[in-house]
Amino acid sequence: MDLYEYQGKELFKRFGIPVSEGRLATTPDEARAAAAELGGQVVVKAQVLTGGRGKAGGIKLANDPDDARAKAEQILGLDIRGHVVRRLWIERASEIAKEYYLSLTFDRGAKRPLFMFTTEGGIDIEEVAESTPEKLVRLHVDPFEGFQPWQARRLIFGAEVDDPNEQKQILSIVGKLYEAFVATDAMLTEINPLIVTPEGKVKALDSKFTVDDAALFRHPDVAEMRDLDAVPPEERAAREKGVTYVKLDGEVGILGNGAGLVMSTLDVIALAGGRPANFCDLGGGGDAEGVVDALGVITADPQVKSIFFNVFGGITRCDEVARGILAALDRMTIEHPIVVRLDGTNAEQGREILQEASPPNLHVEPTMLDAARRAVELAS
Ligand code: GDP
Ligand code: MN
Repeated sequence: MDLYEYQGKELFKRFGIPVSEGRLATTPDEARAAAAELGGQVVVKAQVLTGGRGKAGGIKLANDPDDARAKAEQILGLDIRGHVVRRLWIERASEIAKEYYLSLTFDRGAKRPLFMFTTEGGIDIEEVAESTPEKLVRLHVDPFEGFQPWQARRLIFGAEVDDPNEQKQILSIVGKLYEAFVATDAMLTEINPLIVTPEGKVKALDSKFTVDDAALFRHPDVAEMRDLDAVPPEERAAREKGVTYVKLDGEVGILGNGAGLVMSTLDVIALAGGRPANFCDLGGGGDAEGVVDALGVITADPQVKSIFFNVFGGITRCDEVARGILAALDRMTIEHPIVVRLDGTNAEQGREILQEASPPNLHVEPTMLDAARRAVELAS
């Protein structure tokens, strides 16, 4: 689960990482009031679950409350890479002398948390990694040993931070970031920029914070931060119905039982020259209820041109799934062609049931590859 900047900063603050004081606002008037309370110059920041807000016009300095109101009016409703701005974070403006970058993420290859630190912050970190990789200091943490202070020293000396006052503050922030990361079961924490003010104070000016969905049950306070309005409507519907669904970019809607099978179905669609529109896992069952819910979610995506329903019957019986599909088609109208591949327990019976009923838009194929090819063909 991705957190908004202001939510991430709330967690930073809880763990002792310095941030600026701010207020949340959802209307221009609230922004004005927030600016008046904070006093002086403020920065009006779009809260959206995507980066690059600055470049997209989602971050503006305001000199007084009226100016903050005007800036809020400009930013609210803005579409930043598909995310509409509904919340603003009004923060006391900082003076910036330097912009650094600090993050802690999982390196799945190394199976360890990975710190990255550079004094070349503020801009795209990918660019730093590409053009001046020597400036990006990387350091893995052994999760069993935990974080050790010498690791923070390696980071700051590696990046050639030589001011002792900065060193001291960054050492402390690095340790606190590790604490926050572990304590919240985070997958990613990123501070870009980590600024140094002209007076030499170091603080987090931005926050990217992702918490492991599977650990949210341990963090009800974080789980509560989820903004249901920011989730795409199909994904919200899927979550409510208990269907595992991830939207992708292609044209072939995918439906399968079991995450492993669905993953390989995505691969086979790619192999057949197509692009999957989504990942959708029915789980173990194949009853009409589940199929109706899943088809409802998939067909809500306007990009979907055909549907590939891939079932392997282990404990699930294919004849039951076949009846589920027919019952689902009775209960809802689907214009899309649906290609079905059934294999495993009672596959023969399942195919017979479908062939007998033979709804006009249903195509039964014997193998996964045949079915994938057919679905791709029907999508184009
Ligand atoms: P992002 O564009 O989504 O990464 O948003 P950031 O919060 O990182 O802000 C982008 C840029 O806006 C920063 O790198 C700063 O240059 C600028 N900015 C943000 N907050 C302030 C502030 O308080 N004072 C000043 N002077 N600039 C700011
Ligand atoms: Mn940033």
